[in-house]
Order: sequence, then C-alpha cells, then structure tokens
Amino acid sequence: MAQQWIYLDGSFVTKEEAKVSVYDHGFLYGDGIFEGIRIYGGNIFKCKEHLDRLYDSAKSIMLNIPLSFQEMQDALVETIRRNELRDGYIRLVVSRGPGDLGLDPRRSPKASVIIIVEQLSIYPEEAYINGLKTVSVSSRRNIPDAVNPKIKSLNYLNNILVKIQSNLAGVGEAIMLNSQGYVAEGSSDNIFIVKRGVVFTPPCYIGALEGITRAAIIEICERKGYTLKEEPFTLHDVYVADEVFFTGTAAEVIAVREVDGRTIGEGKAGPITTNLLQEFRSIVTVDGVKVYE
Ligand code: PMP
Repeated sequence: MAQQWIYLDGSFVTKEEAKVSVYDHGFLYGDGIFEGIRIYGGNIFKCKEHLDRLYDSAKSIMLNIPLSFQEMQDALVETIRRNELRDGYIRLVVSRGPGDLGLDPRRSPKASVIIIVEQLSIYPEEAYINGLKTVSVSSRRNIPDAVNPKIKSLNYLNNILVKIQSNLAGVGEAIMLNSQGYVAEGSSDNIFIVKRGVVFTPPCYIGALEGITRAAIIEICERKGYTLKEEPFTLHDVYVADEVFFTGTAAEVIAVREVDGRTIGEGKAGPITTNLLQEFRSIVTVDGVKVYE
C-alpha cells in the first residue's frame, strides 16, 4: 500500500496527520464504540450487519453518530477506494468526541468518526491447520448489568487483561468464562465446540458478543446440515470436545489444539472446523457490498 489515507471526521488525512484531541472521551474514558470489518476481493463483508451492530451500540450508549447509515457506508467505500485496497481490514471508530475533563457526555457536542483500512493477517496459515494453544483465564466476561457485553464499546480493558494472561502463559488465545463459570468467548473471538458431530456455541446471553462471523458460521452449519446448538457449556465440555474453534472478523475460523494442557481431538484442526473454514472462505468474496464496479 503506497500512501495510507485515514478518514477523520469527513476529511482524508495521512497516517502521520491523523491525530485526535487529548480531550477526546474515547481516549479519556473509553467512551465510544467500534467495528472491525473485512474487505474480501473488493467487497465489504457483511457491511449492513456491522453497521447495524454499530448503530445499535450507539443507541444503547446514547451516542449520536453524525452520519446516516448510508453516509457511513459511503465513507467506508470511499476510504477503501482511496487506499486502493481489495483485501484488508477496516477499523471504524466512533468516539464521544472532544469534551472537558468531566465525564458528562453533554460536554462532548460532536462525536468523532475515524476509519482506518489496512492489510491484515493475524495468524500464519499454519495455525489454521495445526490450531492454537489456549488457556482459560481468571478475568471474567463483562456482566450485562455493568457494561453490557453486547455493546462493542471502546472499553476493552477486560479483554486486554485476558490477553495479558494468555501472553504470560505463552499461548496465542484465551478462553474467557462468564461470572457463573460458563464459557463465554475468547479475548476477541466467539467460541464453538464440536462433540459427536454436533456443533455448540454459547448463547449470547452468556456474555458472548453477537459476532458477525459467529452468525455466518451458524448459517453455514444450517446450510451444510450440521446440527448447531446454542447452549451454555463449561470448561469440562471444552476439554472433552472433539474439536474447538474460534470465530472472528480478523481470525476468521481458527482451530484450537490445546486447552489448559488438554489436547483437543487429534491435536490439530478437525474435519468439521476445516470444512467450515473452507465454506466460510468460499462465501466471503461474493457476499458483500461492492467497493469497485
Ligand atoms: N467477541 C469480541 C469480544 C470481539 O471483540 C469480537 C470482534 N473481534 C468478536 C467476539 C467476534 O465478532 P465478529 O465476528 O463480529 O468480528
């Protein structure tokens, strides 16, 4: 990518020029929301679903996004075009905007919108075949009566604590439980397990984000005739599963080969995980909003 252009409140600026105020409440308080979206072959994958989730998060925290849904989609398309990217990752951030040092959002009259597009590949292809080592961690998923985990807010400190714990354990991902001990998700991915041919994922009320990739995998399972159950499960069920995998925009569908020292299945990506990854990769380039005609 030659010059990288960043959308910042209606203008396109270079990476070096792209600066936000130290009074921005996204920076001061994590007061804002975001989305991570993929571009495949010049199409924005599940654009509507990502923007629906963004506008729902905004409504929930009473954040007034200064662009309409269509204007936001147009801004995404234009940012991708300017960066001449056909495959990559979009980070869309809406913060409460600059205010004063107090918490009161009424003192932040205008939300800030930032769109960054970049190339991305978080795991080497080898990881999709051999799977990741993971551990369960002591940090718990946010509970719905605090910051509701359905809100994709800029407040990711909990997830970062999870990442620190998995770093300390020397593994690539972590499994987060909810406050009742049920498996919720990874540090920033949804989780699935497979037992005797049946695919399970925790229902969102357990604390899982309503992942767009999660929904795409559920759809693929239905189409391929796999039995899919949204049911709460525990770490025991993960340890004895035949297959375990995570889903997320950045990670796509990534297998897990070990959890807390227990080998999962054959210790590599199992047949259903592999099949779902192949199916997922075959739909992503055709299912999306076209950036280039
Ligand atoms: N859980 C969390 C906490 C996340 O931040 C994400 C997004 N990376 C996901 C799950 C996966 O969601 P999606 O498939 O929409 O990227």
